[in-house]
This record gives sequence, C-alpha cells and structure tokens, in this order.
Amino acid sequence: MNIERFAPSPTGFLHLGHAFSALTAFDAATSRGGQFLLRIEDIDTARCKPAFEQAIFDDLHWLGLNWPTPVMRQSTRMQSYDAALARLTDMGLTDMGLCYPCACTRRDITEALSAPQEGAAQQFGPDGVIYPRTCCTRSMADRTTADAVRLDMRKAVALCGDLSKRGYREIGEAPRWTPLEAAYLIERCGDIVLARRDIGTSYHLAVVVDDAAQQITHVTRGADMAPATPIHVLLQTLLDLPTPTYRHHRLIRDDTGKRLAKRHDALALQTLREQGWTPTDVRAALIP
Ligand code: GLU
Repeated sequence: MNIERFAPSPTGFLHLGHAFSALTAFDAATSRGGQFLLRIEDIDTARCKPAFEQAIFDDLHWLGLNWPTPVMRQSTRMQSYDAALARLTDMGLTDMGLCYPCACTRRDITEALSAPQEGAAQQFGPDGVIYPRTCCTRSMADRTTADAVRLDMRKAVALCGDLSKRGYREIGEAPRWTPLEAAYLIERCGDIVLARRDIGTSYHLAVVVDDAAQQITHVTRGADMAPATPIHVLLQTLLDLPTPTYRHHRLIRDDTGKRLAKRHDALALQTLREQGWTPTDVRAALIP
C-alpha cells in the first residue's frame, strides 16, 4: 500500500508548484487504495506563521484533497529529532565522532572559502556553499549553545561501507535505481548541518525521521529537492531507517520560465481562486 505525504512549510502561500506535488502524491496514493498524509514542516519557528498554515489547509481542501487528522507537526517532535541526533553523535569511527560542533557564521564560511590558500572556486550544494570544514577537528564534548552540529561526511560515508549497495528507487518517466556516490556526498554536499544552533535540528534530519515515523513508502517532491535525496538516503542508512521510493517531479514555471517560489503571489492558489479558477482548472493546467 502506498503511503504518500505532502510536507509543506508554512512560510508562505502555496502556489501551483505545491498543488502539483500535493495532487500527484494524493492521486498516486488514492488510486492504489493507499493513504495520503499531510505533514506541517514548521521547525523554523521564526519564519512559519499560523496564517500560512491555515491557508495550507484551506487551499488543499479547496483542491479536493483530504487526509487523516491530527496532522503531524514538526514543531512537536523535537524529542524524536534529539534522539536521532544523539544516535548519530554517539556513532563514530575509532576515536573521532561522526559529528562535530560548528560556530561558523555564513560570513566566516565565505571568508574561509575566499582565503587565498583555499584556491578553489566556491562550490554550491543542496544547502548552499559547501562548508570548508573549519571546525571538523572539534569534539562534541565542547559543544556550546553557540554551536550548530555538522555531520562529518567523509566519516559518514566510510561508516556506510559499500555504497554501491545503498541507493534509492526513483519513479517518474523511467523508473531507475540511483546508487549513493561517495564523491557526490563528500564533494558536492559536504558536512551538512544536522542541528541548527537556533532550532536544534535541521530540515534533513527532521524529514528523514518523520518519513520513517509516518511509514512513508513514496516521497513526491519537486526536482529542486533531488540533489538532497542522497543526503536523506545516507541518513536513513546511518539510522537504520527504511528508504522510500522517490518521485521528483518537473518544476512548474511562470511565463518567463522562472521557477515558482513562495513569493510568487501571482500564481498563489489563493490568488487564482480569487480570479475564478476552479480546482478543475488547476488540474488541467498541471496534469495534461
Ligand atoms: N518542507 C519542504 C518544503 O516546503 C518540503 C520538503 C520535502 O518534501 O521533503 O519545501
């Protein structure tokens, strides 16, 4: 049985791109007698707003979707994220742990990367610039409230053993198996943040813990999230969690070809609804 989810963050109004994700997941689940779950990803309390959350419920109901209640809300699940973080910080290779504390600001990182001895041009990964490992020799025992926690990707990859056996199934135009690649994880993702200093967890850790807790079998999300999927599969491997099947759908763009973002109010579902669009119009615009 498919268990699918839609996991928006209430940091803005939903637009056509969100509708595409939600409808695709809902249709895939319900056409197979499966279940569609809604999860509110509200760990970033400074950016999430109750009004946006209410708008998510209103927009999705308007589209004709339904889901079991109460919905999972990430802001209530810090204990689960703490437990997963503790498990990762307790793991390690011989003397050095898998995680380290990091007090670097964005500015510190940019400065370190532009220092002459670094030489290489800035590389960007799923989380922005790739962290130059300034703090990688620090020990978790020295973590203070000013520190985030990072995963030492080299050690994480080494701990997973033969990576060619680890990977994920993707469905889409052509189903395929994508193995994890050490070079991609180490060089293109780098030492990702597992716990931000302000919120105590991170998107990557929370999403992996919650997809497992909700027994999600299929993750449907935009192609912009595809670069982060190997990170999620690596975390699933380290935490002994099952890996769902992934579906990364094409991105919905505006008339000028720009990918829709939450600030794209013109194509917000609320705006379209006010202009007289019906749910059938939304489906027709998205699903040929
Ligand atoms: N909360 C994420 C967002 O709103 C969704 C991530 C996911 O589906 O894994 O972009």
